[in-house]
Amino acid sequence: MTPTSPPPSGDDLHLLLGAFVLGGLSEDEHRAFTQHLRTCPTCQTELAQVSGLPALLALVDPVDADALAPTSPTAATAVAVPGAPSYGEPVAPVALLAEVRRRRVRRRLLTAAAAAVLVVASVLSGLTLYPVVQQWRAGSDRIVATGPPGSRTVVSISLEPRTWGTQMVLDGDNLPTDGVFYLEVTDREGRSWEVASWTGTPSGQTTLQAACWVERSTISKLVIQTRDGWHVAEATVAAT
Ligand SMILES: [Zn+2]
Repeated sequence: MTPTSPPPSGDDLHLLLGAFVLGGLSEDEHRAFTQHLRTCPTCQTELAQVSGLPALLALVDPVDADALAPTSPTAATAVAVPGAPSYGEPVAPVALLAEVRRRRVRRRLLTAAAAAVLVVASVLSGLTLYPVVQQWRAGSDRIVATGPPGSRTVVSISLEPRTWGTQMVLDGDNLPTDGVFYLEVTDREGRSWEVASWTGTPSGQTTLQAACWVERSTISKLVIQTRDGWHVAEATVAAT
């Protein structure tokens, strides 16, 4: 997506939630998502659960957060949603936001970062928010795989149905910088196939494509792991 792309519409709007929380939307996108939010119970619920987390993160290391805070945060603004639960005024997780901006990470990674925030915060709060992340990602063709608690690894994997199977584009951030990694696809009958392998990179970032004959609708799990079975990141894939 380029900066000149038209605002997304339809189902794509669900995908803007993460960037919305982190203040990463353009004006047009912000307007489009705000309108969508008023009529989408799914996003209302997710936002209610997500919006308290930045404040939670701020408690973790307020000194660092202050140091990295943008002077004029364009954080998500509060939106009045009739009938929605009260979720207070969203506050951008400034440390993460600053890092994202500095690196000019694309929106899909921004969204993925929001997923990472959720995982971190779920550990801090003792809440089980991880399945929530998977749920709202599952409506799209883009899956976010995250590492174990404490890991900053976020891997966005698009799943594109083809007549021959499923094409995948993997986009990983904060992966281990060395070692060999394998992408394993598991179907709903529990059968697994290795569909890609690659080595770590100095930047911890990797983008690659993979393909497998398994139909998109029958994929149930994606795991990025090492040869000895350590799960670098994983995601469950909801039925389509
Ligand atoms: Zn929605």
